[in-house]
Amino acid sequence: MKLCRFGPAGGERPGLIDADGRIRDLSPHVADIGPDAIGPDGLARLAAIDPATLPLVEGEPRFGPCVAGTRHFVAIGLNYADHAAESNLPIPAEPVVFNKWVGCIQGPNDPVTIPRDSTKTDWEVELGVVIGRRASYVEEADALDHVAGYCVVNDVSERHWQTERGMTWDKGKGFPTFGPIGPWLVTADEVGDPQALSMWLEVNGQRLQDGNTRTMIFTVARIVAYCSQFMTLEPGDVITTGTPPGVGLGQKPEPWYLKPGDRVELGIEKLGRQGQDFVAWSRPG
Ligand code: ZN
Repeated sequence: MKLCRFGPAGGERPGLIDADGRIRDLSPHVADIGPDAIGPDGLARLAAIDPATLPLVEGEPRFGPCVAGTRHFVAIGLNYADHAAESNLPIPAEPVVFNKWVGCIQGPNDPVTIPRDSTKTDWEVELGVVIGRRASYVEEADALDHVAGYCVVNDVSERHWQTERGMTWDKGKGFPTFGPIGPWLVTADEVGDPQALSMWLEVNGQRLQDGNTRTMIFTVARIVAYCSQFMTLEPGDVITTGTPPGVGLGQKPEPWYLKPGDRVELGIEKLGRQGQDFVAWSRPG
């Protein structure tokens, strides 16, 4: 199943993408695509619905974040060997774990704000893992049983804040709008092997990232098991699993970064695509 949330920000409704790619309204059956809906029982109930019985959604509504109720938005750094190399950093012995503030989550196609005075706003296409069942001290062999599905994430990053402002990467990862997720939450059964997905990203139509999840250093199963040693992962939580090479920081001969007016598009096999216009910061009203 491809699940989504559609409509204006804050007023999204639950939806399902049918075999023809059209949005069907799931609100007769479920309040939202959130923690209560995406556990094993909830997904089984949704899977039993004949999409043809659901109201067809007309037009092209905005997509919201593909899951609601996220309490933790965890990120993994340097999880592709070739990206570690372009960052001039050694391959980590253990997963690098950092946070994206939950408040940065937004719809997949909403504009992204370049922070005030930022000169190093960067892009990262990543596989997002959506937790469907609570995970605490799970074994790697059981870890994927806790995954509801997958989505596209742009792990938007401010490199100066991330790496030149003292410890923790978190400072450069959670600015408002830095967490586009979606358009869809694609259930794990439909995705199959999460370590065989091609992924790409373009800036202003130029292909800059071209990777595949098979080159991850730490697999999704390893990451879920690993994180569950340090925290309790809850249904609705999202783990974004690192980016392949080709970010702005790694461009040759010089790094280059996003400026107002730039357009970023990205996608992952089976998970759809998203796109953002990058805009200048202005004081929120
Ligand atoms: Zn990242």
